[in-house]
Amino acid sequence: MKSKLSYILVGAFMLTASSCGNDWLDLEPSTYTPTDNSINYMSDVNFALNGVYSNMQNAYAYSGRFVYYGDVTGDDMQAYSSTKRSGDYYTFSYTKDTAPSSFWSYGYNMIALCNQILTKIDDIDDEGETELKSYYKGQALALRAMILFDLTRIYGYPYKKDNGASLGVPIVTTLLDKDAKPSRNTVAECYDAIIADLEAAITAMDNDEGQSYYKGHINLYGVRSLLSRVYLYHGDNQKAYDMAVAAIDGAEGEGYVLWTNAEYPTAWSNDASSSNKGEVLFEIVNTTDDSPGKEALGYLHSTSGYRDIIVTSSFYSMLTEDEDDVRTQLFTFYSKRAFVYKYQPQEGEEITDANIPLLRLSETYLNAAEAAVKLGDNTNAVKYLNAIVNRANPNNTVDESTTVTLEQVMTERRKELVGEGHRMFDALRDGGYVYRHNVSSSKVSSTKHLTMSDEKMNFNWDYFKCVLPIPKDEMDANPNMEQNPGYSSESSDE
Ligand code: CA
Repeated sequence: MKSKLSYILVGAFMLTASSCGNDWLDLEPSTYTPTDNSINYMSDVNFALNGVYSNMQNAYAYSGRFVYYGDVTGDDMQAYSSTKRSGDYYTFSYTKDTAPSSFWSYGYNMIALCNQILTKIDDIDDEGETELKSYYKGQALALRAMILFDLTRIYGYPYKKDNGASLGVPIVTTLLDKDAKPSRNTVAECYDAIIADLEAAITAMDNDEGQSYYKGHINLYGVRSLLSRVYLYHGDNQKAYDMAVAAIDGAEGEGYVLWTNAEYPTAWSNDASSSNKGEVLFEIVNTTDDSPGKEALGYLHSTSGYRDIIVTSSFYSMLTEDEDDVRTQLFTFYSKRAFVYKYQPQEGEEITDANIPLLRLSETYLNAAEAAVKLGDNTNAVKYLNAIVNRANPNNTVDESTTVTLEQVMTERRKELVGEGHRMFDALRDGGYVYRHNVSSSKVSSTKHLTMSDEKMNFNWDYFKCVLPIPKDEMDANPNMEQNPGYSSESSDE
């Protein structure tokens, strides 16, 4: 397979092939996909697949909004001010009529591109490259699952709230015609579809191609890591543990390795390669020639960029309790506020061009530790948690004399994954709370939560705004679409 560093050339073409979701006024649901007859050969599949990655690279998708949404809706990060790009998410200042439509439209555009591949690929001649064709199919399945998972957790309540009985989003696996008016599937049905796609992707990728390193492409180890996370959300603890361990052992066997303490502060700028994989299992590759621009995470998190997203004073206080924790070295400061410098540009690039790690081996370790705690397996909880704790500060260890608690693992998860889009979902998925509060600290003395109602400062999965409303465009275009509870009766909200 040709390794593609740039997704740029294919992006324009594929967007043309399914641009309907961007036309707000045409009243076609974003789930509509035009018939596509352009995928007939292996090279077409490769081209189409790069089109999916190119769409993911957009700042309204995985180079930006799909990631920071989960951060600023939680309690570890906040918008610098209410007028910043992340401000409305942070303050939950939207109604069913004003909520953003981009999650939905970009999400379903990307799913449609995956479906264009998946509806054709079984009939395509593999031209003697059986494993490569299988790997292509695995990628399309994995990316479709990743996007459906994100849509499900953005629009649907956490699975454990009601065992998935509430509404998720429509599961679209075929090319829908213009008149299709899909209705929402339940959260349980969405998880079944996500898990089925990821399991099928693993089967399709369990060969030399799927185990190989192709820069900017998801492979077997990335899929296993993602599935371990999905299993945790779904309450499948044994499967989550087994899958996380399979991801770790497989990835480490192929040369992936946790960044060391010494590497950690600057490893984010690494331009990973097959001979220097580091710990990023899947990343969006942005370059100067193929950049998502100023709306991307690099610029939003930068003191020299839009300065959009900062850590909360409570998070700052929590992480700096141990001032020798290497992760404190990622803080940068501006006007008594702390930023997280994870989206570092690669050599010779501008901050806008920073790559976006979406799956890291550190998370896989924490997935394993969390699953082990939930299974009552303290030995393995210690093993996997200690790798992260000890890397952060070599003077700290977790050993067998400690009975690891779930709170301990989840606190470590906050410290490790801040700024990577996890926090609100992690806080709520097991019935916990987002708890926004100020903690005074001289270094971040200007960082205070903006004035909000109590329900926005401290909430669990019962707060109706922990899920977004279905966008107005989709409600208007599709009579089968049902709005999330709470939004319909809402008169106004600041
Ligand atoms: Ca880059």
